[in-house]
Amino acid sequence: MKYRKGMAVIDSHTHWGPSAVLGLQVSTEELLLQAKEARVERVVIFPFPSTALQDEGVNEEILQVSKRHPLFIPYYYIPEDLKPIPRGKGFLGGKWHWVRGVQDCSSNYRVLEDPRLGPFIEEMEDIGLPLVFEEELAFTQAFVAKTRHLRVIIPHMGLLGGRPEEFLEAFAKRENVYFDTSLASPSTIERFVKRIGPHRVIFGSDVPFGRMKTEVEKVLRLPIRDEDKEAILGGNLRRILDL
Ligand SMILES: [Zn+2]
Repeated sequence: MKYRKGMAVIDSHTHWGPSAVLGLQVSTEELLLQAKEARVERVVIFPFPSTALQDEGVNEEILQVSKRHPLFIPYYYIPEDLKPIPRGKGFLGGKWHWVRGVQDCSSNYRVLEDPRLGPFIEEMEDIGLPLVFEEELAFTQAFVAKTRHLRVIIPHMGLLGGRPEEFLEAFAKRENVYFDTSLASPSTIERFVKRIGPHRVIFGSDVPFGRMKTEVEKVLRLPIRDEDKEAILGGNLRRILDL
């Protein structure tokens, strides 16, 4: 499948700004360039975890840069004290990243006992914005069990939190759980689409860890129906965010 006229691709997962530990930086220009090259129309941005943990103010920067560049869709980095997405500021989603655990490696299960977690989930349900949520499988299951309709988007189809097949089986019947395609293999994405349908699979690139063009082409080449590719590449997130 090639790009079709009127097909609007939305990247649901990119990092913007400096990384405090990785010694790298994703500039606005870099994201604009990649979006142009990949024919991506809108780009979700959130800060690098290390940067957000050092200075919550980066959430404000995400908002400001999104005002200057309307193709950006700003997501709020959930701080360790479990503040929900603030209302009325313009954030369109949240990013939950190994809260008080070891990033990309092990979850901190004490967070599940935090008295602030219940109110956090309640407020998030009420706000109705999606939450990109990255933790180990068992932690993710415990979290999702506390939700009703909060849209939880699991990045990389669960690749960093365990095995994608296990995430798939664990949440196949949870209609409020979605998966992003970033860095996942084509066969994994295909398996998810076959099992749960195309409407809970969302395109993401994970720039700078993935390249937008490569990640888009991966979806375009899948042996699935064209309308399913369009849903994955943009339609699903447009529906969720009401764009
Ligand atoms: Zn990422």
